[in-house]
Amino acid sequence: MVDLNRLIAGFSERYGSKPRLFSAPGRVNIIGEHTDYNDGFVLPMAIDRRTFVAIAPRNDRIVRVASVIVNDATEFKIDQPRELSLHTWAKYIAGVAWTLESRITLRGADILIDSEVPIGGGLSSSAALEVATGTALMAMAGATIEPEQLALAAQKAEHDFVGAKVGIMDQFAATFGRKDHALLIDCRSLKTKQIPLRNLNAAIVVCNTNVKHQLMSSAYNQRRAECEQGVELLRQCLPGIRALRDVSVADFGKYENELPDLVRRRCRHVVTENDRTLRAAQALQDGERELLGSLMRQSHESLRSDYEVSCRELDLMVEIASRQEGVFGARMTGGGFGGSTINIVRADELNSFTQTVAGEYRGATKINPDIYVVEADDGAREDSDNLIS
Ligand code: ADP
Ligand code: MG
Repeated sequence: MVDLNRLIAGFSERYGSKPRLFSAPGRVNIIGEHTDYNDGFVLPMAIDRRTFVAIAPRNDRIVRVASVIVNDATEFKIDQPRELSLHTWAKYIAGVAWTLESRITLRGADILIDSEVPIGGGLSSSAALEVATGTALMAMAGATIEPEQLALAAQKAEHDFVGAKVGIMDQFAATFGRKDHALLIDCRSLKTKQIPLRNLNAAIVVCNTNVKHQLMSSAYNQRRAECEQGVELLRQCLPGIRALRDVSVADFGKYENELPDLVRRRCRHVVTENDRTLRAAQALQDGERELLGSLMRQSHESLRSDYEVSCRELDLMVEIASRQEGVFGARMTGGGFGGSTINIVRADELNSFTQTVAGEYRGATKINPDIYVVEADDGAREDSDNLIS
């Protein structure tokens, strides 16, 4: 966990001034994987692992940024954010500044960042970074913006500056997350619904495989293309559809034979995953743990065999977890090819769950996993008041 007073002290040492403090959370996706770019549904929750931004305004148009976690510092001009020499991690920040600057006039700033969200662990450290810095930069400018516009600006930054054509889930979770709630997002209308977790009565556990295979970005673009191809082909039987979101499970069953095998499997994942996500939101709300768990199991199986974005380590982690007492469901979470799994575990089994899963995973892979309980937390906010001054 980040020691906030130490972060503030580090800021003052580096920049010689006193900062304000802002943060945004990472997120874990309960269910609804690879549905966002198909206009579908996702069900993430913001987690109590946050990215913190200490910030003070400057009187020029320069943004100096340093990150404790990547142990690096650099700077950019608000008016020339596309400097080629900019370190990759700072592009997320420059991108957000550039996108917001098109709406309001920003001020230069000194920034120091630290984070509890593991980088590349499938918990969306990138969106936490974008949304936290976006919130902080807006505050420095003394301006406000609709939260939805902030989330969209963060997404646009990732598209245009980092080159990752991500869906809206991560930035929405980092913005609209609420303590003790999951967030059902309709990725077409951008309508959200807060789903209370109070009936769940079980712990949500993240198991980070601590592997990240370098397949993600090429596979991601391929999957997007395969889904689009599926829509084109299905449109011959279902003329009204715009995206896989518009195809019901029943209609898919009628027409799937029109599709070549690979495209059929990709589409089957998305169509059934949308259906599972809506049912899971209801199950979560009703505290139907067995049903939620069974939907999560189906989701993993579908991602493994139809969408083909899992990997040996994720499958192993899910397989080990599923054999433990008191586990309602387990699945890979995030884009895939590594990263984390999410598990719903009865509280009285947590200790033995953690020990056994860590031990068996380590035994089979020689890799130490990180396993921790997460709780649903609030979206982006100012934290200055929580400091001991
Ligand atoms: P994730 O699933 O964690 O979002 P991404 O590959 O989308 O993985 O984003 C991770 C990248 O975001 C890092 O490689 C780094 O460039 C940037 N990043 C995230 N958090 C921080 C941080 N606290 N400090 C600096 N860079 C960060
Ligand atoms: Mg990311």
